[in-house]
Amino acid sequence: MPPTHAASASHGYRGRFAPSPSGPLHAGSLAAALASYLDARAHHGCWLLRIEDIDEPRTVPGADQTILHQLQALGMHWDEPPVWQTRRHALYEQACAPLRAAGRIYTCRCTRRELPDGPYPGTCRPPPGNPPHISLRPPLDAAQAQHRRTPAWRFLVEPGIERFQDRWMGMQSQDVAREVGDFIIRRTDGLWAYQLTVVVDDGQQGVTDVVRGIDLLDSTARQRQLARALGLPCPRVLHVPLVLDRQGRKLSKQNHAPALDLERPLDALQQAWSALGFATLPATRVDAFWPLATAQWAQRFA
Ligand code: GLU
Repeated sequence: MPPTHAASASHGYRGRFAPSPSGPLHAGSLAAALASYLDARAHHGCWLLRIEDIDEPRTVPGADQTILHQLQALGMHWDEPPVWQTRRHALYEQACAPLRAAGRIYTCRCTRRELPDGPYPGTCRPPPGNPPHISLRPPLDAAQAQHRRTPAWRFLVEPGIERFQDRWMGMQSQDVAREVGDFIIRRTDGLWAYQLTVVVDDGQQGVTDVVRGIDLLDSTARQRQLARALGLPCPRVLHVPLVLDRQGRKLSKQNHAPALDLERPLDALQQAWSALGFATLPATRVDAFWPLATAQWAQRFA
C-alpha cells in the first residue's frame, strides 16, 4: 500500500498530530500537539492533522471543529487539509487484504470476561499450517454496532523482541508475543481498532516522525510489527512526558481536565512548554513564542 503523495518519496520530514475528538484539547493534549508541531518546524517539515474519530461511540459531536479552532488560535497551522478517519473505512478494509492473504489475521470470539488479565493466551489462534478463514463482512457503523457483536479480528504477532530507539526515552524493547499476544485490529462492535488505523494512516500519509504522549510508547512495538506486515516503513518515534494533575494523575478528558483558555493563548503555550521541561520563554505574544520555542527544540532534537 504505497503512500499517495510525492513528498514521501523524498526524505522530507512529515509529522502529524492525531487527536481523538472525545472533547476539546486540554493542557495534556496540548503538550503532545506542541511537541509534534515544534519537531516538524525544527526539521523544516510538513505538519499534518488527522482527526482520529474512528472510535465513534467516544466521539463528541463538534469536538473536531473545536480542536481545529483551538490549534489555529494558538498559532499552529497544518500544511495539508486535515483528514478524518471515519471517511477512510475503505482504506482500512483494503489494508487488511494482504494480511488476510498471508494468514496473519484470525477471528476471535473470546469475551473480556473469559480472558485472563495480561497477554492474550492465543485461545482462538489457528493451529500452524491451518490458515484462518475469515468472513469479509464489512464493518458495522456505530448505530449497528450498539446492537450487534461480530467476532474480533486479531493480528498474529511474530515471536521475538522488538527493539527501537525513542528520541526522548532512548532504546526500548518489547517482546510483543509474550507481553501482549495477538492483538485486536477489528473490534467486536465491528469498528476498526486504533492499532490498525494509526499504522495504515501513518503509512498512507507518508509520516516519517511520530511525536506523541508517552502513554502510547507501549503501543509502538505492536505498530512496528503491523507496519512491517503491511510493507510500510516504521516512522521514527519521540514520546513526551504526560502532564499530570495535582493528584499526580494523567490529565485527560476522562479526568475532566479543563479545556484550554483561549483568552490567554500565550499562557496555555508557556504552560505546555514548561510541562515538557523547558524554561518559560521571553515572549509577550503568540507569534513571538513560536520562533523562540522552535530554535530551542531544534537545538535539542533536530
Ligand atoms: N488519537 C490518539 C490520542 O488522541 C493519538 C494517536 C497517536 O498519536 O498515535 O490519544
